Amino acid sequence: MEVHSVDLTISAVDEKQYPAGDQPEIAFVGRSNVGKSSLTNVLINRRNFAHTSSQPGKTQTLNFYHIEDQLYFVDVPGYGYAKVSKKQRADFGRMIENYLTKRPQLRGVIMLVDGRHTPTDDDIQMYQWLSYYQLPVLVVATKMDKVKGSCFTQTTKQVQTTLDLSSQTPLVLFSAKTKRGKDQVWQWIEQQTGV
Ligand code: GDP
Repeated sequence: MEVHSVDLTISAVDEKQYPAGDQPEIAFVGRSNVGKSSLTNVLINRRNFAHTSSQPGKTQTLNFYHIEDQLYFVDVPGYGYAKVSKKQRADFGRMIENYLTKRPQLRGVIMLVDGRHTPTDDDIQMYQWLSYYQLPVLVVATKMDKVKGSCFTQTTKQVQTTLDLSSQTPLVLFSAKTKRGKDQVWQWIEQQTGV
């Protein structure tokens, strides 16, 4: 999808504030600093539209961006600071948990991992959590411009093995700098949402 119009519709602190209507939603999750704002900005062709403020202690909000009046991107606070617990049901906020498990409009979750490093325990727990709730997931390995092309296969294997990715879960190698992977991410979003 070629995006021309985007609105930050609402920064929700309560589910009563979620957008009305039944347009599809795609959520973005990942540790702080993983490159979530950068990915979002590439997808919507903006230099600096999405800007997360994921400092520790800040009120956690779900930010809904309305894309081309057809679907919503939902920016979920970075879980690096959100104290993902050791339990399988990671307690990273009742609102977020409720959003991810009880929102009929939610069609899929894009989970970002840093392509330069092995996925962390937080990443593993997040993926297990999303799998437990049978949410359709796309894993995006970010910052791939920092990884040599000759290591791409190794990165793919490392992410697949560490997260124990199901065969249903695609992985895209992405760079906000080169925009590598942008079309694949959009294809997945279009598949999930039917836009
Ligand atoms: P967020 O906290 O997950 O929203 O992360 P940001 O998108 O703000 O990115 C965190 C840092 O990583 C910033 O300094 C970005 O410039 C950098 N970054 C994000 N994506 C990329 C990428 O694809 N390549 C490179 N080289 N740096 C990136």
